[in-house]
Amino acid sequence: MNNTSLQELVEKISLDSFGQSFDYNATFNSRLRTTGGRYDLRTHNIDINPKMLIEHDEETLRGVIKHELCHYHLHLDNKGYQHRDSDFKRLLTEVAGLKFAPLSIPTHRYGYVCIECNQLYVRKRRINLGKYVCSKCHGKLKLQKEIVYK
Ligand SMILES: [Zn+2]
Ligand SMILES: [Zn+2]
Repeated sequence: MNNTSLQELVEKISLDSFGQSFDYNATFNSRLRTTGGRYDLRTHNIDINPKMLIEHDEETLRGVIKHELCHYHLHLDNKGYQHRDSDFKRLLTEVAGLKFAPLSIPTHRYGYVCIECNQLYVRKRRINLGKYVCSKCHGKLKLQKEIVYK
């Protein structure tokens, strides 16, 4: 999917779910970091974080597009277009848009190594080193490194 097909998809969702056209530009913007999409009040354009497609799926992408289109249509209709406004909440529910864009949450893993036999353990959570010892030799464990998978 590129910017052209994104534009077509946004226009289609606008007509199908809102019964009104989207007359501005929709583009992928990889500089968006903390949000799945953005509606610009000044230009009326919509930016979409390409991660929504890369790390999630088309269903998520559609949900994010609907969310941004809620801002767009309400803003142009002079209605409450902000998250806290009841107009926004109502319309978002109506079109089944996503409330929040899912962000990629880095997965933490902790690597521990036994100081006696060098056995490596990888765990999702921190281990209480005062309580747990190596299951092979009962040696003490030490934190080797914190691994972050993105
Ligand atoms: Zn929003
Ligand atoms: Zn050991």
